Amino acid sequence: MPGMPRSLRLLPAAGHEIVEHARAGYPNEVCGLIAGRQGMGLVVFRGQNIAPAPRVSFELDAQTLLRQMEFEEQGLELVAIYHSHPAGPEEPSPTDVVCAFYPEAAAIICSLAGADPRLRAFSIVDGQVSELEPAWISEAGGGSQETEPRGLCKSHTKY
Ligand SMILES: [Zn+2]
Repeated sequence: MPGMPRSLRLLPAAGHEIVEHARAGYPNEVCGLIAGRQGMGLVVFRGQNIAPAPRVSFELDAQTLLRQMEFEEQGLELVAIYHSHPAGPEEPSPTDVVCAFYPEAAAIICSLAGADPRLRAFSIVDGQVSELEPAWISEAGGGSQETEPRGLCKSHTKY
């Protein structure tokens, strides 16, 4: 629903993974996909930033975009696309708004501009930006553990 505030549920491990990726790619922007179920972000797929000016923009590589088909075959959905702002605020840039090609997925931005990394999530639909409340879910359960792909989470989460 465009413009409707909602929350984005994420495993804390997925949040850590985004921050680690952002730090590893500094000073370039990094980007990737988050797969999950029922709006819950569970698995992080690190992408390659193939943008010509990677310090100020991002473009996911085709191989990572193909991962979406693979995880959809496993019953997962694209929950979010993340990227980092090495020196900018954790808000969508004008380009991010124009280039939001996946309105059904949340846009997560990790900023490294401050003393501590900051994560914010947005819904960008038809140029309209609304912020999503991040809600951290526990790995141990909370009602949906029957379908939680634990093996996947472990194999794609690096510390
Ligand atoms: Zn951006």
